[in-house]
Amino acid sequence: MKRFFVFISAGAVALSLSSCSSRVPERIQYSGTAMGTVIQQTVYTSARDKTVLEDIQKRLQVLEENRLSWRLETSEIYEINSLAGEEEGVLLSEETAEMLERCLEMNERSEGAFDVTMGPVVRLWNLDSWAAGKESGDFIPPDTTALAEALAHTGSSRLYLSGQDGRLYLPEGMALDLGAVGKGIALDEILNYLRENNEITGATISVGGSILTYGEKPDGTSWRVGIINPFDNSGFIGVLSLKGQWCVSTSGDYERYVEAEGIRYHHIIEPSTGYPADSGLSGVTILSRDGFLSDALSTACFILGREKGMRLAEQYGAEALFVEKDGTVTMTEGMKPFYTESQ
Ligand code: AMP
Ligand code: MG
Repeated sequence: MKRFFVFISAGAVALSLSSCSSRVPERIQYSGTAMGTVIQQTVYTSARDKTVLEDIQKRLQVLEENRLSWRLETSEIYEINSLAGEEEGVLLSEETAEMLERCLEMNERSEGAFDVTMGPVVRLWNLDSWAAGKESGDFIPPDTTALAEALAHTGSSRLYLSGQDGRLYLPEGMALDLGAVGKGIALDEILNYLRENNEITGATISVGGSILTYGEKPDGTSWRVGIINPFDNSGFIGVLSLKGQWCVSTSGDYERYVEAEGIRYHHIIEPSTGYPADSGLSGVTILSRDGFLSDALSTACFILGREKGMRLAEQYGAEALFVEKDGTVTMTEGMKPFYTESQ
């Protein structure tokens, strides 16, 4: 008998107080969707004009439309992918060139686990769409020939990024997928916006499984970021108490998946096999000052597993928390002061 089940959720949640303060600065809130995921914003601002929430939303939309989307014809990534195989390559914007350099560095340091050229394999699995309930019928994993063919068109070492003329050369049939870093890049973009606005005194903003905390709460208490329990997504395994600016990203096998014949197929792919990563973990949470790093590392560490993942996070000066499939929680020493286990 076939079992079929879909589920989608974010990895962590910014917890906010339920009371509404009438003091200045005023708290304003918004939840909606952007970049194909759920966005939640809580901002403390003393500005009269409360356009902050809309401005942030607009920035995310522009980021998606102009730079990151592999679906929208208007984006730089779309252009790069559609020009794969062109001899003259494609001229990159400064931001995209810098971002890809960071991705290539992460690929090297993670021994290939993190790979932005997984596009053809990610498309073949189509797990985002299955997990979102957009597909009908029974899920059937890709056959081995199709998977081998897609895998043959991956590999960050085959990209050529010319520092001199700012061009990227992507071999034919290859395609970039920024799914593992898009939300972190969104947090960095939001951070730039918040810093330009002196009237904003504090904020927590979550974009899918990535959360930004910024500034202070008027009552001086810490921001509280709950880490979702991978085995019961309605609860938290623990809470991070943070002051000031931090980025928290989570990657897990429970975030986007489809189950068929009792097997869970999730969205984080092990590049050496083309199958969903199985390194003994259910979730990884990364704490960093930098959005890109937190998001890239959460994906990379999930694939690498606890020991190698711990070493990679430490190399980058980030903190990491690992939840193993048997429920064991381990973390870097630097994470411990921020973490309180749920009772
Ligand atoms: P995250 O939820 O941040 O861990 O990112 C997962 C997303 O990254 C997937 O939905 C894919 O779009 C993409 N992805 C999957 N496997 C990899 C990989 N090995 N390296 C980089 N990106 C990946
Ligand atoms: Mg990620």
